[in-house]
Formats: sequence, structure tokens, C-alpha cells
Amino acid sequence: MIIAAIEAGGTKFVCGLFASAGSEASRPRMLERAVIPATTPEETLGAAADFFRSASRAEERGGPDLLGIGCFGPVDLNPQSPSFGSITSTPKSGWRDVDVAGYFRRELGLATAFDTDVNAAACGERLWGAAREAEDFIYLTVGTGIGGGVFSNGLVVHGLGHPELGHIMVRRVRGDDYPGCCPFHRDCLEGLASGPAIEARWGAKGESLADSHQAWELEARYLAEALACYSLVLSPRLILLGGGVGLRPGLAERVRELVGKELSPYIPQLAEERRLSSFVARPSLGADAGLYGAAALALRSRRD
Ligand code: ZN
Repeated sequence: MIIAAIEAGGTKFVCGLFASAGSEASRPRMLERAVIPATTPEETLGAAADFFRSASRAEERGGPDLLGIGCFGPVDLNPQSPSFGSITSTPKSGWRDVDVAGYFRRELGLATAFDTDVNAAACGERLWGAAREAEDFIYLTVGTGIGGGVFSNGLVVHGLGHPELGHIMVRRVRGDDYPGCCPFHRDCLEGLASGPAIEARWGAKGESLADSHQAWELEARYLAEALACYSLVLSPRLILLGGGVGLRPGLAERVRELVGKELSPYIPQLAEERRLSSFVARPSLGADAGLYGAAALALRSRRD
């Protein structure tokens, strides 16, 4: 079967077509991929729908059978709600209340699975990536924003809305007087440790700061605070740290060390070196984790 997948991000929509054996067990094969800049909703959604129409026609393989969308949020995930599948309180101009899932369902006429971008990436890692062995894990991405997906007992956590792992409050590191850049909470985790926070605090983008720059120790300390909180509340067996900032070489290792220091006196499992060394790891689906994740959502939706 053919699966259409969309990783709908705040700056770009990545669209892909996959060939799948129809089972969650085997990773689908990517046939085509396109990147569409996220400008206005009309332009962006229209271009994404056109991609799927023309890609299906060009190869004469027939249209896709299913669609999965992992979307930047916050989004409405309540299937009973009239605005299910829409973006809700985003600060991104023009995108508030845009019915992303409904648009593609109408335009492409496909059964459509819809979730947050981070829940999608977590689904991909669970089925085909670094979390194959873990029923209880967290996928956290640190980049332009900070967000995460949570799996508990093998199922993705939705609840009232969906978890917002980037917007928790963390203790300030002494001496850090940067006010924070979250438009909602100012100095939540995202406000203090996202890519834009690093750039605003140090006057340079993270990628241009040397490994020895004090920015990285501060970053590790804020992320360790957050991971310790998640661990105390959710008791994950594994935390995957991804994203443009999260994948910085050495960062996951330092975060793991700090989390171990903070929690091992209290959580005896983390006092075991073997357990701790695999507790914070990298996602393994790489740059296309979100796109594979959207395909994973589509496949998983067939269970329901
Ligand atoms: Zn916030």
C-alpha cells in the first residue's frame, strides 16, 4: 500500500510518499519527498495537496491509501471536538484555527491520522527507531521550540490535550539573568533553552558557538532539570533527545550525567551505570524522524 505522510512544521511542510507492506513491523520505503515552505495556510496546504496529486499521477502507481499528519501545535486532538485536527493557540501568524486534517481529508479523500509533530516522531521511533524495546519513553526535540511526545504502556499519551514538555517551569541556574523568550510564559524551559533563547542570550546562533562555550553547560543544566522532572512524573525507561540543538555532539552525554547526579540518590535504577548510560539517547530515524513518524501514525490508525 501507499502511505502519504506530512510533517507539518512551523517553517516548512515535509511531504513524503511511502511504500508499505501494510504492517507496523516493517519500516516503509520512502518513494518521494518534497519540502514546502510554510508561508500562508492557503499556499502551503495547497502546494502539499498538489504534491500528492501529481506524485501519484506521474508514477502511475495510483493514489495513496492512507494519510498521516504530524503537525506543529498546539492542536486539537479530541475526536469528539468540532475543531479536531485544527491548530489552536499558535503564535504563528495566520495559522490559528486552521483545520489541517480536515483540509487534506477533503482535498485528497483519504482516511487521515492526525497528531502532534512530536507524537508522530515518537511513534516512528517506537515502531522503527531507537525506542523499539521501550514501552515507556519520551521523545524530546530541542530546536526552534522544545516539545516532546510521551509513550506510556506502549501507547502515546494524549489526555486532556497533549503533553507540552517544552513549557514546564525549571529552576533558574544561578547567575543566568536572561529573561526568557516564550511568548506565553517567558522563562519556561522553551523560553530559556530553545534555539532562539540561546541566540538571544549569547548574541549568536548555537551552531556558531564553540563546544567550549559556557552556553552548552547552561543548556545541559536546563535540559537536565527538565529531564529529571519528566522522570519523576512519568517514570520513563528511555529519553530520546533530538532536534537541531538537542543533537549537538556531547550534549546528551552531559545531560545524562547531570540527570544521573540529580536522580540516582533517589531512583536506584539510575544509580546503575549500565542503566544510566542508555537512559538518555539519540533518536535513530535522523532528519526524517517526523516524516516516518507521520507514516507510522497512518499505519497505527488502522488498529482503531
Ligand atoms: Zn512557554
